[in-house]
Amino acid sequence: MNSAKLDRHTLFLINIFSSDLFSNKRVKYLMQKISAEKDVIIIGAGASGLMCSITAGKRGRSVLILEHNEKPGKKIRASGGGRSNFTNINIQAENYISNNRNFCKSALSRFTPHDFMRMLDTHDIRYYEKENGQMFCEKSSFEILKMLQDECVKAGIDNLFKCRISKINQEEGLFDVSTSAGDFKSGSLVIATGGISYPALGATDIGYRIAKQFGIRVVPTKPCLVPLVFSGENRKVFSDLSGVSINATVSCKKISFTGNILFTHNGLSGPAILQIASYWNKGDDILINLLPDIDAYELFISKRDSKTEMKNLLAEYLPKRFASEWSEIYIHSKPLYQYNDKEFRSIADKLHNWIVTPEATEGYDKAEVTSGGIDTDELSSKTMESKKVKGLYFIGEVVDVTGQLGGYNLQWAWSSGYAAGQYV
Ligand SMILES: Cc1cc2nc3c(=O)[nH]c(=O)nc-3n(C[C@H](O)[C@H](O)[C@H](O)COP(=O)(O)OP(=O)(O)OC[C@H]3O[C@@H](n4cnc5c(N)ncnc54)[C@H](O)[C@@H]3O)c2cc1C
Repeated sequence: MNSAKLDRHTLFLINIFSSDLFSNKRVKYLMQKISAEKDVIIIGAGASGLMCSITAGKRGRSVLILEHNEKPGKKIRASGGGRSNFTNINIQAENYISNNRNFCKSALSRFTPHDFMRMLDTHDIRYYEKENGQMFCEKSSFEILKMLQDECVKAGIDNLFKCRISKINQEEGLFDVSTSAGDFKSGSLVIATGGISYPALGATDIGYRIAKQFGIRVVPTKPCLVPLVFSGENRKVFSDLSGVSINATVSCKKISFTGNILFTHNGLSGPAILQIASYWNKGDDILINLLPDIDAYELFISKRDSKTEMKNLLAEYLPKRFASEWSEIYIHSKPLYQYNDKEFRSIADKLHNWIVTPEATEGYDKAEVTSGGIDTDELSSKTMESKKVKGLYFIGEVVDVTGQLGGYNLQWAWSSGYAAGQYV
């Protein structure tokens, strides 16, 4: 086997996974010559790439991960607000958006949320269910990253950070990957480069470009799990209410989510809005039920003789600032005994079916995930290998499989990484 030609600078950047590497006190760079020919090259040291490398390494495959960031797993670290919502125990294919909803089933069934939690148990990482099956680390997402790094060390994985990919060719059954750290060859090439959301954490479109280079179809992408932006009068009102949150049901095109909505300077955010944003397209209305747990009309009828003002009654069920501002814009607030039945019905309807029309989303900069990506028709759902290009695999978010909020995206990364790792 040949060895890549490595200059001093490149050697300095080469390291193997070591927990010491990330300690601020003692940074240990282990320099070693990485063989230029591997069984498997994985581009991207994120959730799916790390899982794939561990699985393949345990099978005795020689693996090299190429990563352009200075360290692995930046999105894992940022996930779940630093506690990582690493999976969801109620996982179903219905929790994913894809042109082929069934595609994810095979991988998800072969590496399940419980398999991942067993891995955490082996590493004494404690976790808990927050709500609706969403599993979080008790301490920090860093524990998951460290676990993956430790497993990589055990599996003998090599990796290069700050490594730029310049060219990829396939000749005589081998992939030839030219990088800023030298040229490397492998029989299997795994693209684990994620989506294009959150470029601040290292996201790029390289995965889609590689697919196109090999004639593999890419479904158009869209920012998902992203705050919504409003313009005009709505924006002014929402901005005035910035910081207020309400438990509501939001709907778009017959899809609904119940949870918190949060008013921001630009529009709306919060879990229920992030969820619905994945289904929203420009021009669509969003319907907000501000009182999902009560029947507003019945409430008004039960108080029809009261001298209480409408906005004060609403303030018993909604944040005071919101009740006051909303009443000022949409209704003429007066004592309840002064309303007639038609007016009660109209106000109740507005509370249960408040229609707002977003102008846009906050875009890829603020989107937790990217929908679209490598067309699932191009891949084997069992191995994640391209049907057209033997030895070329796509895993994780770069594939047209996008989870809802709640741990589904990381589980897809673990499961698809594991699936490919078994076959590379
Ligand atoms: C702020 C934030 C919070 C999130 N929280 C959660 C959560 O709690 N639960 C959940 O399920 N999901 C969450 N997600 C989504 C989840 O993190 C991703 O879906 C998941 O990490 C995707 O895994 P991946 O391996 O496909 O991609 P990534 O984890 O993004 O890894 C891709 C890797 O490829 C590298 N790369 C990209 N371009 C190149 C290139 N040109 N050359 C070399 N390397 C490259 C990147 O630097 C990165 O290391 C969150 C996302 C964000 C942004």
